[in-house]
Amino acid sequence: MNSSIFRKLLWSALLLIAATLGTVDFYLTRYTRQQQADNLAARLSVEAGMLGADLIAHPTRDLSSWVKKNALLARTRISVFDGSGKPLADSEPGESNSQDAFSYIEARTRAIDGSPLALRLSAPLKETNMAANAVRLRILATSFGAAVFALLVAFLLSRGFNRRIVQLKRFAETFLSAGAARDPVIDSSDELGSLGRSLQRMAAQIRELVERLNLESARREAIISSMAEGVLAVDHQLHVIFCNPAFQRAFDVRTSVPERVSLLELVRDSGLLTMLNRVLETGEPLKEHLQSPAAGNRSFEAQINPLATSSGTGAIAILHDITDLERLEQIRKDFVANVSHELRTPLAAITGYTETLLEGAMEDTQNNRKFLEIIQNNAVRLTSIASDLLVLSEMESGAARGEPQCISLQEAVDSALQTVEAEANARNVHIVRGNVQALEVRAHRVRLEQALLNLLVNAVKFNRPDGEVHVEVIRSSPNQASVVITDTGLGIPYEDLPRIFERFYRVDKARSRQVGGTGLGLSIVKHAIERMNGRILVESQLGRGSKFTVVLPIA
Ligand code: ADP
Repeated sequence: MNSSIFRKLLWSALLLIAATLGTVDFYLTRYTRQQQADNLAARLSVEAGMLGADLIAHPTRDLSSWVKKNALLARTRISVFDGSGKPLADSEPGESNSQDAFSYIEARTRAIDGSPLALRLSAPLKETNMAANAVRLRILATSFGAAVFALLVAFLLSRGFNRRIVQLKRFAETFLSAGAARDPVIDSSDELGSLGRSLQRMAAQIRELVERLNLESARREAIISSMAEGVLAVDHQLHVIFCNPAFQRAFDVRTSVPERVSLLELVRDSGLLTMLNRVLETGEPLKEHLQSPAAGNRSFEAQINPLATSSGTGAIAILHDITDLERLEQIRKDFVANVSHELRTPLAAITGYTETLLEGAMEDTQNNRKFLEIIQNNAVRLTSIASDLLVLSEMESGAARGEPQCISLQEAVDSALQTVEAEANARNVHIVRGNVQALEVRAHRVRLEQALLNLLVNAVKFNRPDGEVHVEVIRSSPNQASVVITDTGLGIPYEDLPRIFERFYRVDKARSRQVGGTGLGLSIVKHAIERMNGRILVESQLGRGSKFTVVLPIA
């Protein structure tokens, strides 16, 4: 009932009824009154004619009684005047006509003596008005009935419309929210029905569009989240629009990123900020190298592009972490430099002594043999560097991979001991084979023997005359076996310990070269052992000796 549609419908119906009835009332009342007046005039005129004729046919001296008698019969007032207009008789003497409206008619006739008389018949218009009023009353009663009917029709119509409109409204408001998407009832072919159908079509299209957008954004989100590159999008005020997990990891952002947080609150990196600002100012893409203190000094190749956002232009940065690449590149460069350096010394010696011999030293019987021996030693050195490099590169490239097998540690240790025996004897170093338990490990035979041999050779090479090398094999834990090689040699300075497994690293270069070392032995050991899922540990005391422990998983 509160519905404004109902009120509007009601008011317009009432207004229409009032206007129609007002007009009808006006014309009908006037018409009725006129009609009544005309009828009265016609009656009076007929009566006047008849009375005039009657007076001529039956002249009478007693005009007073004649008018009274005939006035009663004709239900009018009858007045008689002489030729000059003087009243001679009146059915209602003394009454004036001034109070009411009257209809009257005059007829000429003759008196008994032949003198002209005027006969006037008059009747009040009261009856006419009463008839008009009766008409008006009927009109009013009809109007009231029509108004009640209009109220009822307006109420019923508006209730029907209202229900359908409320239904459409609810549908329009909730069709996207889950569960509430009930289609409106479309049971009519009127405008509301067609509006409902349009809404339904529109809702289906919007639902499909939203679904497509959701899918698209989920797909994009998945791609961006799984990207190895850090992705960061900011608006023109450097507020973060989004950033992916890789970016958060790189800049150590642990909390979840609140919407539109200022980038400064998240990452304090002047380099990144400068680059973003430049792209925001120029609108041009940018690709630069970025070394970021905020990201633990890691290096990035940063590609920054302008981004159109709802609030203007922004920027999107894609950070490709090249720290490892740079490190590998550096390692490669160092390696090449080291290899060249290592090769240069023996090559220079060979070239130099060959020239000396060619320039006449060949005839020098006292020295020529010595020179040739030097040349031979350096050639041997070149050969061992080459073979060590080969072994190392084989290990790194994963060649000779194959599945690890069950290897007897005892056999591997004995084989290595046998090989090193001659060298130990030459240097007067005693090898003590301690507690060597019969254990089997999962390993590659060649790699394992090579690693053990390298460790034993070092223990002999960097030992003192009459020194000792002690070897044992023990079960260090329920599923691990350890080969422990202890020597009584020079020992390794504490600060050098972390570096001895690097390629070409030697604590004492001169000494290493003198004993025929290449600086690659321990790198090979480390590689070989790690490839077999093992570990290598070292302890050392300068001047006292070193202890290398190889730990391997038991088969
Ligand atoms: P090298 O070919 O020079 O032996 P390694 O990689 O095998 O190269 O060893 C690296 C360096 O570690 C050696 O030059 C040496 O200074 C030191 N080192 C290795 N093993 C021992 C050891 N048992 N005692 C003392 N120093 C050692």
